[in-house]
Amino acid sequence: MVGDAAGFVDPFSGEGIKYAFISAKLAAERVVESYENDEFSKHALDSYKRVCYNSFGENLKYSLRLTRLMYKYPNIFFRLLSSNKIVLDKWLEVPAGEMGYKEYIRWLTLRVPYFMLKTLFPF
Ligand SMILES: Cc1cc2nc3c(=O)[nH]c(=O)nc-3n(C[C@H](O)[C@H](O)[C@H](O)COP(=O)(O)OP(=O)(O)OC[C@H]3O[C@@H](n4cnc5c(N)ncnc54)[C@H](O)[C@@H]3O)c2cc1C
Repeated sequence: MVGDAAGFVDPFSGEGIKYAFISAKLAAERVVESYENDEFSKHALDSYKRVCYNSFGENLKYSLRLTRLMYKYPNIFFRLLSSNKIVLDKWLEVPAGEMGYKEYIRWLTLRVPYFMLKTLFPF
């Protein structure tokens, strides 16, 4: 399964077109490889899952972690994003493919205390 049917959607942004294209290409490559080698075992077909994970799966995993945090603390996230342009600007590097969610979470975690203080006590 590919795209939405495989659950390949960025839970934070709702972006799924890119993952539908990438996973469809990887699935097609796997099918061609299976035909060429006459190899349709579970192990051979499982390599599709592995290449998907290596290509974008980890990024979606971290996106889910960030999304869960956001829904757990919506007020904090709302204030953080609406009061600090840099937090949103930095996130835009993720869909632009310049940064992954793992890196973004690390970047954000280190700065949350500063941004929250700045939000609560503007100076
Ligand atoms: C409101 C909305 C806004 C979105 N905005 C964005 C965005 O800005 N950027 C982004 O990256 N993603 C966005 N997404 C997500 C994105 O649309 C999907 O992740 C992406 O289209 C998934 O592609 P897909 O090929 O897996 O599925 P789909 O695009 O849904 O294609 C599946 C196709 O299969 C057809 N189909 C279903 N059942 C059958 C059947 N039995 N027989 C034959 N055909 C069938 C359907 O009619 C459909 O055409 C948005 C989604 C929604 C709902």
